[in-house]
Amino acid sequence: AAKRAGGNSYALFEAHMDAGAAKQLGLQFDLRQAVAGGQLSLHYQPKFDSRRARLSGVEALLRWQHPLLGNIPPSQFIPLAERSGLINELGNWVIDEACRQMQAWQREGVRLRVAINLSVHQLRQEDLVSRIKQALQRHEVDASMLLCEITESAAMEDIKTTQQAFEGLSRIGVFLSIDDFGTGYSSLSYLRQLPARQLKIDRSFIHDLETSADARAVVDAVVRLAHALGLSVVAEGVETQGQCNILLQLDCDELQGFLFARPMPADELFAWASGHKPDAAIGFSP
Ligand code: C2E
Ligand code: MG
Ligand code: MG
Ligand code: MG
Repeated sequence: AAKRAGGNSYALFEAHMDAGAAKQLGLQFDLRQAVAGGQLSLHYQPKFDSRRARLSGVEALLRWQHPLLGNIPPSQFIPLAERSGLINELGNWVIDEACRQMQAWQREGVRLRVAINLSVHQLRQEDLVSRIKQALQRHEVDASMLLCEITESAAMEDIKTTQQAFEGLSRIGVFLSIDDFGTGYSSLSYLRQLPARQLKIDRSFIHDLETSADARAVVDAVVRLAHALGLSVVAEGVETQGQCNILLQLDCDELQGFLFARPMPADELFAWASGHKPDAAIGFSP
């Protein structure tokens, strides 16, 4: 049909592209107002220690409630923020908000480890380490309570920057984790030099665990590699009891996914964590 319509269809295509570009531009403009406008929030998803079957911490995930368009997923606005240079502003907000929340929970008697996600652009920020240090001090939070996740592909994109930022963060006592592991191209010798504490196996491998021998072999290999390097392993995106059982068999240290809990607002997480029976969290069914 496109061929027959000739020039007209091209015009349509172009109009469509313009609409897309215009929408992106509009969103970019709106995102600039999001921080000041109080439209951002963090949701928290629990992670579990698989041996002790209890809550081991939470991952903070950024949410944008657009005044007209409603909830916009991070898969949409994070790349936009990275392209438009807004990511450091958003990232700085996340750092401060996560520390503020940890302090608030601590005051209510709950000490929760919080993981935040960092973009590669933030690693390039000259004052990232001092910013994080200051946020921790301002909110009287121990550095060891904070974990920073960087995706494998971002970490490998600019090895020198990653190395420097990891060393700086590690020096002040913050824990580091390589996110979405298995989807990037890690140099193993390089991985060995990074002061990371943890690997998070990408959701795609977890998703296929029950149906693909390959996925199972990859997860098995990643767990062994991590343990050999002295790192702990987290599986993200655990959705079924079957996946959970396999991960326990493969000796995965921590589990995270909809099977246990979805990301939720801070007050909900608090109520959930207070009412939550530690040993009932993970059904160990052999
Ligand atoms: P991620 O860091 O790998 O986070 C895990 C994502 O998987 C989250 O999506 C979470 O809601 C989702 N998830 C958790 N359990 C399950 C499950 O069992 N099944 C399925 N299908 N999904 C599950 P979310 O919140 O949409 O975030 C997507 C990505 O956006 C994150 O992936 C992270 O890369 C990025 N992101 C989120 N918040 C931030 C942030 O504050 N800063 C930066 N730089 N990136 C962020
Ligand atoms: Mg993450
Ligand atoms: Mg991840
Ligand atoms: Mg992921």
